[in-house]
Amino acid sequence: MPVNSIKIGNFDIYSISDGYMIFQRDTFFPELTTESWKPYPAYLLPELEMNIGSFVIRGPDKTILVDTGLGKLDHHIEQPIRETLLSEMEALKFNPGDIDIVFLTHLHLDHVGTNMIKENGVWRQTFPNAMYMVNRSDWEMFNRLIDKPAFQYIKEQVQPLLSNGCLYLFEGAISLIQGVTTIPTPGHTPGHTSLLIESDGEMAVIVGDAAHVPPQVEQPSWSPAPDRDKKLSAMTRESLMDLIERENALIASGHFPKPGFGRIIKINSGRYYKPLI
Ligand SMILES: [Zn+2]
Repeated sequence: MPVNSIKIGNFDIYSISDGYMIFQRDTFFPELTTESWKPYPAYLLPELEMNIGSFVIRGPDKTILVDTGLGKLDHHIEQPIRETLLSEMEALKFNPGDIDIVFLTHLHLDHVGTNMIKENGVWRQTFPNAMYMVNRSDWEMFNRLIDKPAFQYIKEQVQPLLSNGCLYLFEGAISLIQGVTTIPTPGHTPGHTSLLIESDGEMAVIVGDAAHVPPQVEQPSWSPAPDRDKKLSAMTRESLMDLIERENALIASGHFPKPGFGRIIKINSGRYYKPLI
């Protein structure tokens, strides 16, 4: 049975999914060759299937949702629309009103798609009591692109939150609540941010899109096409994996096969990702 939730001291972290996306492996990682993938038998097919994972962090006083999936967005992408985020939360007995903070690792469309929801033709915040948070550099970049057709989702899912005063633009390393802090992990997008959860001597890191597939744990130089700054994302990935390994932290990834919880195992001079089962 896959492990769908983990305990880190006083925190429970739940993995939920909004569906999955399919990409052509060689389009997603255009710089790699068939030879590069040979050591990874799970990745020899032409298609890559990626979970669209979010995490709910329940602490003693506050509940945080990390990323809001793809939702119903249909802006220039051909992906299956599942919209299972809210039903999976409900199955775990979380109501949208229970969420105090919606933390957005970055503003790509598979991470913000349920920020807002349309009811009777009117858009409203899906999580009515939440303060939404995103790194200021991400907002600034995506806001510059807002009039391009591929970024209409920003107008629909992000801009209204700022207009309502419900989007907090943070910078650098900050504490969300006691025990949950941001780790700047730029490269995939300029303001891409991971989260460190620390309690009672235990640690977990929600990596966001600092990595998309487990082989990148072993091969941090593998930067995929959507990384805006491939050199920077490779450096970020390497130092993030160093941190996770050094601290013996659990790794939580929304795009790794679900539920996306695992450990980094060191072997000789290398390391690999081992899912929790
Ligand atoms: Zn993503």
